[in-house]
Amino acid sequence: MDHKISVLVQIDLDGAYLRLAVTGCLTEANQHVLYPLIRRARTLIPPVTVSVDLTAAVHVEAAAVDLLRWAIDHDETADGASPVELLAPNGLPTHEHTPGPGVRRLQTSEPWAA
Ligand SMILES: [Zn+2]
Repeated sequence: MDHKISVLVQIDLDGAYLRLAVTGCLTEANQHVLYPLIRRARTLIPPVTVSVDLTAAVHVEAAAVDLLRWAIDHDETADGASPVELLAPNGLPTHEHTPGPGVRRLQTSEPWAA
């Protein structure tokens, strides 16, 4: 299966917030690509809240969220760095990789509490 992740970086011009909007698939195998982006975001400009927004992703693995959360909490460079909030959808989305006609059908996996 081909899981592709995209990240859109939005920076508020007043430096009030920085948002990493994740689209596509966030999996156990690719979640690590966010680490350097988050690290950069946390130290780029004086204290802002860094949001990692997973709510627009079509596929989010629970294990990926756990690993990401752990990595954020255990970032060695985090001294004095900006706080990070992880926004995950309540029901983690999965998707079928077989392309079908019309709109891609989204499935919701078992309820997952943040
Ligand atoms: Zn996927």
